[in-house]
Amino acid sequence: MAILPITVYGDKILRQKTKPVNSVSDELIVKIKNMLDTMHNAKGVGLAANQVGFNQSLFVVDLKGVEGYEKFKPMIFINPEIVLQSDEKVVIEEGCLSLPNLRADVERSKNIKIRYLNTDEQLIELEADEFLARVILHEYDHLIGKLIPDRVSEEIKSQLKDELKLIKKRKVEIDYPITQL
Ligand code: ZN
Repeated sequence: MAILPITVYGDKILRQKTKPVNSVSDELIVKIKNMLDTMHNAKGVGLAANQVGFNQSLFVVDLKGVEGYEKFKPMIFINPEIVLQSDEKVVIEEGCLSLPNLRADVERSKNIKIRYLNTDEQLIELEADEFLARVILHEYDHLIGKLIPDRVSEEIKSQLKDELKLIKKRKVEIDYPITQL
């Protein structure tokens, strides 16, 4: 078990588009386990590889701690592709382990379809709605270098400005390890 430091706003890797995974090697399985440990330790529901310094197209999700999802088993999405997004949108308040303590209302599609590889390298197509769709879209955004501030109105973005500056300087109180300047 390894808890990795989480990259935060200002870290360049969060702004880079991730590279596809070539094969699910033993080394990658170890990385995935460490990502799950890191996410659970930080009480997050999703974590993308570039949030722990790996420039690879994969993320993990675990909604077990969320009301109504108690039986949820951790999911691993490798080389994901969003193939459908509903026109119907919903606004939900989001947080992000790379934006400690920041919360913002974000509008996203209500229903989605995603195609990805699991750890057995099987191609899976999954339809998701509600909170799972929300988390998947948020994590997918990480893989293309997008963060919450890119998904809100200019008005909300300007309200977040001071908070983002503090995060960049690591002037935040959190109880999980983050990268240092
Ligand atoms: Zn995030």
